[in-house]
Amino acid sequence: MSGDALSHIGPGRVVALCGGVGGAKLALGLYRLLGEDLSVVVNTGDDFEHLGLAISPDVDTVLYTLSERADKERGWGREAESWNFLGALSELGGETWFQLGDKDLALHVLRSAALARGESLSDIVASFAQHFGIKAKILPMSDDPIRTVVETPEGNLPFQRYFVEGRCEEEVIGVRFDGVDTACVSKPVIAALKAPDLRAIVICPSNPFLSIDPILATPGMQHLIRSAKAPVVAVSPLIGGAAVKGPTAKIMTELKVPATVQAIAVHYRGLIDGLVIDQADAAQREDLELPCSVSHTLMTTEEDRVRLAGEVLDFANKLALEAEAAPPRGAAS
Ligand code: GDP
Repeated sequence: MSGDALSHIGPGRVVALCGGVGGAKLALGLYRLLGEDLSVVVNTGDDFEHLGLAISPDVDTVLYTLSERADKERGWGREAESWNFLGALSELGGETWFQLGDKDLALHVLRSAALARGESLSDIVASFAQHFGIKAKILPMSDDPIRTVVETPEGNLPFQRYFVEGRCEEEVIGVRFDGVDTACVSKPVIAALKAPDLRAIVICPSNPFLSIDPILATPGMQHLIRSAKAPVVAVSPLIGGAAVKGPTAKIMTELKVPATVQAIAVHYRGLIDGLVIDQADAAQREDLELPCSVSHTLMTTEEDRVRLAGEVLDFANKLALEAEAAPPRGAAS
């Protein structure tokens, strides 16, 4: 780690809201700077039951990324993976559209057995994180099942059928989160957002519609975020009006929302105090009605992740200082 990166370390905890591959890149940068002072609240709307197993793709991506077990080429799953199970499954005519590697399978088997014994997803994930040597807290947004359903002109699709099997090709006309009405924010997430020494909440550059909205739709989550005495900063997942990977821009167009950083700011309006945008979008800076920081947001290397994480923390510190310096409402000028 460079000395420059070390200068971003300050007192206080940070909560990051995160989906899968895109969000985990920034989560890793934050982890390098913050260690155990980082809590990552992860989307579980992508979770599903497959072949009798409970699978939590975004949670596992964050576990693999922070413990340096993620496959860097594929962008998902574990590195040095083998596929004997999938091969045997195929031989027997089993469903292979969702690829399960042999090492990856171990998590799904253990998670399924523990859930069947009545353990909470939060406890199960905490145990995985501990075994992987991760010091940060990895927190499923809820211990209740919330399932993202993608609405298309041809009918509704469970999230993984849309995302993995259908390769995001169907037109999206709406997104809903089944089970959300009766779900609660998990206890560890409540504790993280109520920490007295919380110094920033970071919305990672995950897909706002598919990865962050399920987190924000969990009853009580937005109130907890707004009540926290820490600035909320989002990082745009769009660079130059395009997604780095995945269907974010495509979905925005299908939902008749322009694929711009301004639309990202509007999407998070009322929740965020500042937005980090890429240099490629700097011209839109004047159109944003909230504080904005312009940066190089493409995270190709680990250095990029740590640098961007440091800039995001600096931006949050700046917003906190400005809020402190601002006269209280109603004070005489
Ligand atoms: P998923 O659940 O695996 O699809 O991953 P996420 O929802 O967490 O992330 C998907 C989003 O990450 C996409 O909108 C990408 O544009 C964005 N993304 C991926 N890599 C980067 C990057 O290096 N920089 C920025 N700014 N966004 C990125």
